[in-house]
This record gives sequence, C-alpha cells and structure tokens, in this order.
Amino acid sequence: MEPRFRSRSYKQIKKKLPSGKMTIHFVKKKVNVAVCAVCKIRLNGVKSDIPAKLKKMSKSKKTVCRPYGGYLCTKCIRTNIKNKYMGTIKQ
Ligand SMILES: [Zn+2]
Repeated sequence: MEPRFRSRSYKQIKKKLPSGKMTIHFVKKKVNVAVCAVCKIRLNGVKSDIPAKLKKMSKSKKTVCRPYGGYLCTKCIRTNIKNKYMGTIKQ
C-alpha cells in the first residue's frame, strides 16, 4: 500500500479480480454538496470541498451575502420573508 493511501480520506473497496484474487481499490471520498434546508435544492455560490480545505477558504466563497444565505435557497427565503411580513400585518 502506498503511503498516501494510508489515509481516512480514501475509501477502501474490496474488488474480486477475474482470476479470483481479492484486491483493495482506493477511491477518494465524495464531498457533500450544500443544499437548501427546506427544499433540498443545490445552493449556488457555495463551494463544497473537504473540511480541511473549507477551513482555509475565505468566507465569501462559502456563503452568500444575504439573510439565510448559504442555508436556504432564494425561493425559500422569499416565501419565508413574505410569510413573516404577512404574519406581522395580521397581528
Ligand atoms: Zn429551498
């Protein structure tokens, strides 16, 4: 095993070769993509990477400059704000 594969960032998959011999394949783990908390749509303007690289990135690359930016999508924010505004008018 190569030293770089002795890391938890690689997923180990056991494969059976046509000859019947078992080998281990190393696959880089997939990164979670930022999604809207309500409708689960993929968020624009938010980069996704491994946590170690996210920590080094600037804040502007990880979020959108608006209330609930980087957490809710534009449609959900719009309906959320409308509902709050309508709620205050009724009272
Ligand atoms: Zn949404």
